[in-house]
Amino acid sequence: GPAPEAAEPALDWLRSHRNRFGLFIGGRWRAPKSGTWFATLNPADGRELAQVAQAGREDVELAVRAARRAFAAWGKTPGHLRARYLYALARQIQKHARLFAVLETLDNGKPIRETRDIDIPLVVRHFYYHAGWAQLMDSELSGYEPLGVVGQIIPWNFPLLMLAWKVAPALAMGNTVVLKPAEFTPLTALLFAEICVRVGLPAGVVNILTGDGRTGAALVEHPGVDKIAFTGSTEVGRLIRRATAGSGKRLSLELGGKSPFIVFEDADLDSAVEGVVDAIWFNQGQVCCAGSRLLVQEGIADGFYQKLKARMEKLRVGNPLDKAVDIGAIIAPVQLEKIKRLVQRGLEEGAELWQPSWAVPKEGCFYPPTLFTNVAPSATIAQEEIFGPVLAALTFRTPEEAVRLANNTRYGLAASVWSEDINLALDVATQIKAGTVWINSTNLFDAASGFGGYRESGFGREGGKEGLWEYVRRVRPRTPLARKKA
Ligand code: NAD
Repeated sequence: GPAPEAAEPALDWLRSHRNRFGLFIGGRWRAPKSGTWFATLNPADGRELAQVAQAGREDVELAVRAARRAFAAWGKTPGHLRARYLYALARQIQKHARLFAVLETLDNGKPIRETRDIDIPLVVRHFYYHAGWAQLMDSELSGYEPLGVVGQIIPWNFPLLMLAWKVAPALAMGNTVVLKPAEFTPLTALLFAEICVRVGLPAGVVNILTGDGRTGAALVEHPGVDKIAFTGSTEVGRLIRRATAGSGKRLSLELGGKSPFIVFEDADLDSAVEGVVDAIWFNQGQVCCAGSRLLVQEGIADGFYQKLKARMEKLRVGNPLDKAVDIGAIIAPVQLEKIKRLVQRGLEEGAELWQPSWAVPKEGCFYPPTLFTNVAPSATIAQEEIFGPVLAALTFRTPEEAVRLANNTRYGLAASVWSEDINLALDVATQIKAGTVWINSTNLFDAASGFGGYRESGFGREGGKEGLWEYVRRVRPRTPLARKKA
């Protein structure tokens, strides 16, 4: 096969910072007041990539103050001028796409094919798209104003893409941000900070605070923050909701999922098999909208499982920098343990496990693609988010039963429906309680369409015009009296 992508450019970049990163506050790098640092590792080989700062309360204070100072001017900057910065950010990321892709793959463990062809292009598109909205804000969104300082907290599964989903609309609408990347994957956010300097973004418009959940909690509690935008687990989302209740802070939450992937007997089964591969083995299944519950119509179930197993046998797990690899490394040992625990639970509850005949690499954090059949609708593996390459398959007889099973979840992020009968597909799609429903496709994203959940998958939308509302408020209409005073 082709030679693996070279790690060198990314390793060189890390070395140019002596493999040690401070906090990005007010447009420059600062050592953390906390005096604490932690390591970020490559999950594919367990090696340390760099030391990053653990921001403490004092650091959060400095960052929020820097963002507040910057807001005074940024919030009043005309949209078309803000657009220039967003275009410049998009162009710079595009220019350094290879470096971003390799760095992301090293820090996260996802295949280079995905970072190169999916993550980074979507990031670029997101900045271009929101540059357009920034430009239009003065006309299309007159009567709205930015919220102020936004605290943004993101997970490790799409580090730079989640940053883009948060930062691009916030900046476009005139807010300033304090962003906390996940502790497992801080590196591309730090490279992004450097890009902000390069394009001359005014100091304090973007601040990056690395750290763990404690840093996130301090940001959530800070009274100087006008809004919290969070993507992560439902458990932490619940904590944040409690912590912000009654504070007057705006809040949007993008949380977990257990999305159904429904295959009717008249579906194009070869395409549906490829769909399953994308739904549950993309990014090792560490995807909030992963199609982790396969619902197959009874009459075709056995044949479909046979096709799927044949395809699984051909998937390749290994070195994420290898361009032929389909499945990379799991983010960290703690996540690998969680996957193993839930798989064990699946066996105990009587489901049937199937894995390919080959073995995954012994070194590093790897797990094989896994199919469970004969899963009861109430089984743990049918209800709990595994966040790994594990698919739970159930069967149904009628469309009504498919809908009932699909909605038998506390989540509601996404769903995928496969049938050659468009009436059936549309009819089923409208009955599924999920933020996104794909038909004969899966995991398609675009900056122009809103993404978000129902129920315990959260609230608020990211992307599209609807995503903009999360970052503006209506200007209070001026009464005649107020006008007279002014
Ligand atoms: P997590 O909730 O553990 O962490 C997410 C972020 O929150 C991290 O930056 C973490 O440091 C921070 N955090 C942890 N405790 C905190 C606290 N008490 N207060 C404030 N911040 C805190 O989630 P994770 O394990 O990093 O990510 C996986 C989860 O994210 C999955 O459940 C997945 O479904 C979800 N996710 C959802 C979406 C979506 O758009 N809906 C996208 C990606 C991931």
